[in-house]
Formats: sequence, structure tokens, C-alpha cells
Amino acid sequence: MAVRGVWVRHNDPARGVADRVGGPILEAMHDETLSLHGHGRLSCSLREDASGLALFLDIDGTLLDIAQTPEAVVVPPGLPDSLKRLAERLEGALALITGRSIGTVDALFRLPATAVSGLHGAEWRGADGRTATIATTEAFELARQHLRRQTADMPGVLFEDKGAAIAAHYRLAPEREAQVRDLMADIAGPVADGWELQEGKQVVELRPRGRDKGDALVSFMGETPFRGRRPVAIGDDVTDEAMFAAANRLDGLSVRVGLDGRPSLARCRLGAPSDVRDWLARISA
Ligand SMILES: [Mg+2]
Repeated sequence: MAVRGVWVRHNDPARGVADRVGGPILEAMHDETLSLHGHGRLSCSLREDASGLALFLDIDGTLLDIAQTPEAVVVPPGLPDSLKRLAERLEGALALITGRSIGTVDALFRLPATAVSGLHGAEWRGADGRTATIATTEAFELARQHLRRQTADMPGVLFEDKGAAIAAHYRLAPEREAQVRDLMADIAGPVADGWELQEGKQVVELRPRGRDKGDALVSFMGETPFRGRRPVAIGDDVTDEAMFAAANRLDGLSVRVGLDGRPSLARCRLGAPSDVRDWLARISA
């Protein structure tokens, strides 16, 4: 059933941004913090000195390699320590901005003092420890139960409970993509006032409506210790485009992980999460 009033963000950033790709990438060639090398004009290397920067990092597909299921991700030894040291070096101006819940981020990284925005910008924990979370509604609780039940009957489709967001992953059953989309559209109907559909890499999600990753970045930049620094946003997926746009607007840097050639507002690209981790290890050493 098609649902009126639910905005589906397409997993195809070619819509609306393709005409802007040439400009930002060419601009990056003149940026003092970047130099292009290697895999053609889309790749970049980030400078080795992070002073004056504010870092905004997505997690899955950016810091961590994407796994077959959300629970199967591996946090490489040393990464949490790198992030902790780097946050200290940046006087706290490092935030994780992710589709995961803050609770899951803390379970993965065990960095309770680190600034985080979860659920694609909806949840918030500032560098001073203040938090903002989303209260669910009765209708959303029904949607959660419904999705859990329905996905149990769909082999290969994985239900993910993120608290104020719920998701269905079809990475293990890509042939069920259309079925998952239809199901999520049905589920979204009764909660369309407060939640909206979000597509990602082989996942469809029902997430809180209203704030995106770009809003999260701008909010952080308005606060100590981020204020006055130059934002660097690194991400890999469609929801990171809002974060790239915000960083670009604030005269910052935007980096998309992945050399698949998909159009992006990011001003430069890195090949893989291991490139991001290598850079973080170097600048935090
Ligand atoms: Mg990601």
C-alpha cells in the first residue's frame, strides 16, 4: 500500500546532486588541507595535523567495515583508543554522527564521554554530557511489534530494534528488497506524523522525523568545544549527504568513503573505512 505523507529518502543521490559534483571536487584541489592523488580526481588525502578541526564521523561504512548484520560489525583493536586520544587532542571537538542509537554506540566503543548524535541526528549527547532522546508513542510501539512479527516470517530479512527507530535489513536476502519496501511503507502509515522512512545500504528504516545529520553537525558547531573550528564530515551513505552539505556551508571539508562513483556533495573521497582508520591513527599518534 502506498502511504500518503511519508517521505521516502531515495538511495539514489543522483537525483538533485549530480549537477553539483564537478564544482566541489575541483574546489577541493585548491583546499590547503587536501591533495588529490592516486585513484583519479575523486580521491583525496587528509592532512596529518588535525589542529583547528572539528571531526564528525559516521560509524558503519566509515569507521567500521559493513558486516552482513548490524551486530556482526568488528571494532578493530585500537580504534576506540585512537578516537579517545584524538578527542582529547581536539579538546573534545569530535562527534560520532550515526544511524545507530547512542546506547549501541556506547556498547560498541565504550567512550561515554564522547559527543554523539544517534538515529541520524535525532538523538543527541553533547561534549558536556547533556543528552536528548526521543520518546516513542503507542502507535510506534505497535509498529515495532508489527515489524518484528512480519520480518520473522521473511527468511533473510533482519529486524533491528534501535529504540526510537526500527529497521528491516535485506542484505542477506536482496531479492526481498521490494517486499521490504512495501512492508515498511505499510508500517510507516500510522506513525507518519512523528516518523519517516529512510533508505540506506540494503536497509529500510523508520526513524524519527525532523532532524538529520546536517542539523546535528550544525548544532555541535554552535557549542563549545566545536565552535570556531573547521568542520570535517566523513561518511559513506545517503544520510551523510546532509552532513556533507552542512560542512560545505560552514567552509568545512566533506569526505565520502567509497570510490563507486556515486554522485555526492562530498568534496573528496577516500577508498574504504581502513583509509579513515589509518588517518585517525596517524593524527592521534
Ligand atoms: Mg554509514
